[in-house]
Amino acid sequence: MREFIFKERNNILGIGARVIHFDETVDERCTFCRILYPPTETREEFIHLFRTCPIVRMYLQYLIRRLRINITYADPDPELVPDPGEIFNEIYWYGTHLNKTDASTVLFFELFRFIIWKFKTRRILPRPHEVHDVFLNMLDVILSCNKKIKNAFTKNVLLSQVLQALG
Ligand SMILES: [Zn+2]
Repeated sequence: MREFIFKERNNILGIGARVIHFDETVDERCTFCRILYPPTETREEFIHLFRTCPIVRMYLQYLIRRLRINITYADPDPELVPDPGEIFNEIYWYGTHLNKTDASTVLFFELFRFIIWKFKTRRILPRPHEVHDVFLNMLDVILSCNKKIKNAFTKNVLLSQVLQALG
């Protein structure tokens, strides 16, 4: 996972739309979209693969619902109607919610992207509950190995319910 995060941050992951620049034999279309719908024209770009791909969005929605992650919009100014998509993006990419950045939130979504990456490289289109199960298993291992991280999750208002799902 460390290697994945390094490559992700430095934008050197083997994503279709990037690899095509030095290997023309590569299919630059999204691995997941292609499995679901072979004639797809959708290019596998970073943002597509990890955020806007309809399949990945479905996994995210499923995970958030199952883990009862409640994203609150705390804005007292009715003039400033926050865009839910933008609020989610802040959480998803930077672990920032209500102006607070939390390392455990960063880890949480980094783990999600890592799992997406693993399925992509194996060219597997999992069912949403499979993504959820792999995610929980890995999170369980991480938290049971590291008390500090577990503590951070307990204090994280956005994610503290997730611990209950782990039992
Ligand atoms: Zn896709």
